[in-house]
Amino acid sequence: MKSIAFKPVITIVGRANVGKSTLFNRLTRSRQALVADFPGLTRDRHYGEGRLGSRPYLVVDTGGFEPVVKDGIVREMARQTEQAIAESDVIIFLVDAREGVNRLDYDIAQLLRRSGQPVLLAVNKAEGMRYGAAGFEFHELGLGEPYLISASHGDGVGDLIEQALSHIPEPNLPEEPEFDADATDEAPQHRIKLAIVGRPNVGKSTFINALMGEERVIAFDMPGTTRDAIEIEFEHQGTPYTLIDTAGLRKKGRVFETIEKFSVIKTLQAIEASNVVLLMLDASMEISDQDASIAGFVVESGRAVVVAINKWDDVDSYKREWAKREYARKLRFLDFAKVHTISALNRQGIAQVMRSVKSAHAAAYRRLSTPKLTRVIHEAVEQQQPPRKGIFRPKLRYAHQGGQNPPIVVVHGSGLEAVSDSYKRYLEGRIRETFDLEGTPLRVELKSSR
Ligand code: GDP
Ligand code: GDP
Repeated sequence: MKSIAFKPVITIVGRANVGKSTLFNRLTRSRQALVADFPGLTRDRHYGEGRLGSRPYLVVDTGGFEPVVKDGIVREMARQTEQAIAESDVIIFLVDAREGVNRLDYDIAQLLRRSGQPVLLAVNKAEGMRYGAAGFEFHELGLGEPYLISASHGDGVGDLIEQALSHIPEPNLPEEPEFDADATDEAPQHRIKLAIVGRPNVGKSTFINALMGEERVIAFDMPGTTRDAIEIEFEHQGTPYTLIDTAGLRKKGRVFETIEKFSVIKTLQAIEASNVVLLMLDASMEISDQDASIAGFVVESGRAVVVAINKWDDVDSYKREWAKREYARKLRFLDFAKVHTISALNRQGIAQVMRSVKSAHAAAYRRLSTPKLTRVIHEAVEQQQPPRKGIFRPKLRYAHQGGQNPPIVVVHGSGLEAVSDSYKRYLEGRIRETFDLEGTPLRVELKSSR
């Protein structure tokens, strides 16, 4: 059993309209394309990955965690946000230079000071302002020296993130191999990293017990530091796996008393550290917002996914129909994933789930050859031209693979800015028909050249 370090988490906190999502987008550019592609999934991203030099980090935008409730600080900074603060490595507290200090800013500042977490105070919308004018009054918040930034122009953002990361010891992350477009091997030789996620009580531990045998799971109580995950290696039907478990998931939090067993941050760190996610749901319960937001994280991450609807033994035939409809309606954006109905308690369906995990992993690393991809694109266009925009019609010329886990297909041509999301989904569908990609999201990127 090994301990691995998770990517550090930077959480952006601040009242509405100070520029949190603008800053978030600037810090996590790479993720935008993927999320826009899923119908039914909100376009508000909750978290994303960024990079400073060779250091990766995760950014969480608390604004997206839950609808903003208007009455008072307690509701405004709702429980999940408090928990996110407690579990993050660094907080960026964003305020608005043009509006000055606001009542709510004081309340948030107090809450942040109480959390004991490292906080950087960033004064946004400060483009063209001198420090004296903009920075001075924010000293009153008692959070140290304010950083003047402009999220929309980018001023000061690099320094801010460098400062943020300086609060975090350099993690010992495994090297991520670069994608090599010329390699011809199919599935990679590495162990399949599997994260099992779901809200409390859906049956994750029961599943893991059934999979590995009771004695292995005792290891879960091993102490770990807040940012460490435990890797447990096991073999199933001759295939080597690494289960990524979040040590400390069951530990009581130090900072806020409201901390529960479920951890949003740990869940998304585990997703990030995996190749395949097993998303577990409870057939006897409706799909909650928490389920949907976990599912949303999974899709945002681009990881391969298998869904297990557990406790199938516990529901009658009427409830079974209902559970299937519930799933189809609320988690439409996971339509690429294989769904199993299982009973972890009775050890039913476990082998089938693991087979799907293996094939989802193979799909995520599938090699998509340039000639074949290009042919698919040409045939797709022949059957249905991309709609014109003004007098121009986008021209799709060729396509090649630009990455794995998730597979990225880069389509080259001209006028591609005009290609709609729905046409991109059409292309995605055509690519899926040709290559076996069940279980993995697929990212289609358009690159115009003139
Ligand atoms: P959020 O509600 O905190 O997520 O705020 P948004 O990111 O949605 O931004 C609110 C408004 O502030 C938008 O109209 C942004 O364009 C604007 N804004 C964000 N950052 C800056 C900035 O650095 N300078 C200026 N002038 N406006 C900004
Ligand atoms: P976790 O919080 O997701 O790890 O959930 P647990 O594995 O601790 O399970 C929560 C509860 O659900 C326990 O009482 C389990 O016995 C029960 N449970 C788990 N799987 C099943 C199942 O397949 N069928 C039934 N009827 N109960 C189950």
